[in-house]
Amino acid sequence: LTHSPYEPLQADTVADRLGGLPQMTERIGPAAQWRVCEVGDGNLNLVFIVEGPAGSVVVKQALPYARVVGESWPMSLDRSFFEHEAMLRLGRRDPGRLPEIYYFDRHQAIQVMEHLRPHVILRKGLMAGERYPLLAGQLGRYLARTLFRGSDWAMETARRKADLALFAGNVELCGITEDLFFTDPFHDCARNSHTPALDRAVTAIRADRDLKLAAFELKARFCGSAQTLLHGDLHTGSIMVCAGDTRVIDAEFATYGPIGFDIGSLLANLWMAVFALPGLQPDNEERRAYRDWILDTAEAIWNVFVEEFTRLWRRERTGILGGRELFEDQADAIGSELALNTMIEGIWRDAVGFAGIEIHRRILGLAHIPEFETIADEALRACCEHRALMAGRVLAVERGRFAAIGQVRTLIARLE
Ligand code: ADP
Ligand code: MG
Ligand code: MG
Ligand code: MG
Repeated sequence: LTHSPYEPLQADTVADRLGGLPQMTERIGPAAQWRVCEVGDGNLNLVFIVEGPAGSVVVKQALPYARVVGESWPMSLDRSFFEHEAMLRLGRRDPGRLPEIYYFDRHQAIQVMEHLRPHVILRKGLMAGERYPLLAGQLGRYLARTLFRGSDWAMETARRKADLALFAGNVELCGITEDLFFTDPFHDCARNSHTPALDRAVTAIRADRDLKLAAFELKARFCGSAQTLLHGDLHTGSIMVCAGDTRVIDAEFATYGPIGFDIGSLLANLWMAVFALPGLQPDNEERRAYRDWILDTAEAIWNVFVEEFTRLWRRERTGILGGRELFEDQADAIGSELALNTMIEGIWRDAVGFAGIEIHRRILGLAHIPEFETIADEALRACCEHRALMAGRVLAVERGRFAAIGQVRTLIARLE
């Protein structure tokens, strides 16, 4: 397999091509009995579920172009290598939150991993009005553990620099984030699209100097602040859930960047789920109750993040930025706690700003989200999207003014 030229898998070639892998046959049974179905709903890659008599696995393969656009947008297969490296690290930093990886072939850009079931994509669960009681705790801890343990507070110099150099190679996907998040939505770029009724709002956004400055400053934070290894694409479509479990998938955009980026991306997608509710849930009571559950979940994710980050700060500061000589070793616990508070304030400010950018790019840029896209009534969709954009502007421009996450709830309530 490794020595033949790269070739995309098809449902009817998977058994022929992968049937010799013990990593698969030992888990699911002999290839002659496999059933294969393609389930990829993402923007970029092929994903197959392969089922045998003894079980099932997922096979993910990168294509040499962006699936959402087609062969006219070539994209390096290397992203599969970086995804695999990132999945291993994130999985070690928060054991149990990522699918187990069984096999990787760099040349064919193929990963074989645990088939998550009965999990569904969180975005779909939210659109169906489901509640997940463990979600906030598991995601809050996931964020704290992966983001802290990949940072200078936890990693020593040699390993950290080597890792930074390795992930600098994921340049193509990092470049996509730079453009798609921070630049495209704020000018008339050919890749963009928006609901036509937003034309006037879009014209105003592209003339909004304060907003463009915020996007520019946040882009500089994203590019210039290598605080930790990010997942890099942590929206509600990269999380799979069921009643008792939460998992994170799809780490191909992994890059070193600011801690607030993953947090802000995730929170923005929860907040957009709230803004889409008038188009998805016609019942007033239900809508209000579900809005409250999503907002509570967003707040709990942040609060758990702070709690777990604080715990790790006190117990696992073993890296370049250990700082124990300055504080604990001199019995200066207050100094250490002040440093922690300053860090958390900075992370929060970044997260709020990145959330504002994520909202803009999902309504004005290339990659839209089904919460809004499935609202058939165009006037209603435009209205939901417009409110989200107004919130996004405040989050991006006034990111320094949100002293607590509760203020975001006030902002959202004001726009309803
Ligand atoms: P892409 O990079 O193309 O977005 P994803 O990794 O997000 O690919 O996978 C696309 C879809 O395949 C997911 O939305 C999910 O429905 C399904 N999927 C991916 N990985 C798994 C898995 N380990 N178990 C079950 N389903 C999965
Ligand atoms: Mg995906
Ligand atoms: Mg749209
Ligand atoms: Mg992906």
